[in-house]
Amino acid sequence: MTDIAVTLADKRGTLPPEDKLGFGKIFTDHMFVMDYATGKGWHNARIVPYGQIEISPAAMVLHYGQAIFEGMKAFRTADNRIVVYRPLDHLNRFNHSADILSIPQMDVNVLHDGLKKLIEIDKEWVPKSLGTSLYIRPFVISTDPFVGVKVADQYTVFIILSPVGAYYASGFKPVAIKVEEHFVRAVKGGLGEAKTPANYAASLKAAEVAKKEGYTQVLWLDALEQKYIEEVGTMNIFFKIDNEIITPALNGSILNGITRRSVLAVAKDWGMKVSERRISIEEVYEAHEQGRLQEVFGSGTAAVISPVGELSWKGRKITINNNEIGETSQKLFDYITDIQQGRVADKFGWTG
Ligand code: PMP
Repeated sequence: MTDIAVTLADKRGTLPPEDKLGFGKIFTDHMFVMDYATGKGWHNARIVPYGQIEISPAAMVLHYGQAIFEGMKAFRTADNRIVVYRPLDHLNRFNHSADILSIPQMDVNVLHDGLKKLIEIDKEWVPKSLGTSLYIRPFVISTDPFVGVKVADQYTVFIILSPVGAYYASGFKPVAIKVEEHFVRAVKGGLGEAKTPANYAASLKAAEVAKKEGYTQVLWLDALEQKYIEEVGTMNIFFKIDNEIITPALNGSILNGITRRSVLAVAKDWGMKVSERRISIEEVYEAHEQGRLQEVFGSGTAAVISPVGELSWKGRKITINNNEIGETSQKLFDYITDIQQGRVADKFGWTG
């Protein structure tokens, strides 16, 4: 076990009514913190009361965005255990993002121990109703007080926790998505595979325009030719064509989603044909015209599975599966959420 100093909060908050949680606005009583300095490495792992942090106005992160984050969830199971979904996969991806952003590697065991200890201290904050969870947000910022562009010498990693409501509070509904043809998100050799603020900053304008037009999110195409499908705002994307599950291959410009991995593993386990390959938007529209496009769905930590009922590309709208939830989308959602909340045996060993 890692040596982690704990300072407890004088006053504890309480979990609000579980139907009022929403997403990402309420935080628990404590947070995990650890510092880095060149020559010293990562040090001073600690759990402290959740609260404001002080950094210099010159802190490098505020100017050049050298930062990364993760997003995962803990659940309270039916038999009242608290489990985290694929924590080591998320923490390893955190380190992969760190590498892309030239942030020093962290010991995932230290982070994992810190996370477990933090959840234990704040366990009263883990909601229990169907679909609710404790959202876990680890992040690193560069803190050197210096306004020149360089790789920083000082960093802090934090883990904060936020109880969140059921994503589908008003039902599991298909969404309408705009295929983006003007803006681009990421390029091969760039930051696309990292969970870093810059990627999300780059996505805001397109998402804002799409929302005004009545779409939930955008589907990004490759930045070079605007031809091949990449991913949705905060989800990877899947197509069911001729009973085959197809998702864009990892190419450096999309996120290696943990839910994406779960979907691929489960579908394979069910004996479905699964492929990770390049797929163009034209191919999807053609399959639809020929009546071979059966389902489209997104995968991500927030919603697990999000069925897509409508796509719009260059003003051409197509309705998928009569705007109804597809059989595979529903089955995957049910099965993965059953594993997460301990209603079925976790044969893949994903909860810990
Ligand atoms: N793509 C992007 C850009 C995302 O932000 C997310 C959410 N983390 C995903 C895909 C889905 O990844 P995961 O299944 O690991 O949540």
